[in-house]
Amino acid sequence: MARDRRKNPRHTNARMEKITRERIRARGDVCAICGKPIDYTLKKPNPMAFEVDHIIPISRGGKLYDMDNLQATHRICNERKGNQLDDERDAMHMSLTTSCDLWS
Ligand SMILES: [Zn+2]
Repeated sequence: MARDRRKNPRHTNARMEKITRERIRARGDVCAICGKPIDYTLKKPNPMAFEVDHIIPISRGGKLYDMDNLQATHRICNERKGNQLDDERDAMHMSLTTSCDLWS
């Protein structure tokens, strides 16, 4: 039973991805990065189109389909964000964990 058949989480379930996308879209949130409204009717090549961003990246253990880990962004904002925020989060996480280690 303990067979660990790991797949790339990004490729596991296209259907699930579509459902979560629709759920985020239904929330009608503003862009989590710039705070401006998103035109949910815009389609992909458009830089202002809607894109789902993972608050905690999958590579850091963030859940792929957890609604609490997903936020709506503009494509352009998500793209601009790049790894910048990830680095900040990393630094924050590091300082949190190291301080815990130091004081325990
Ligand atoms: Zn934006």
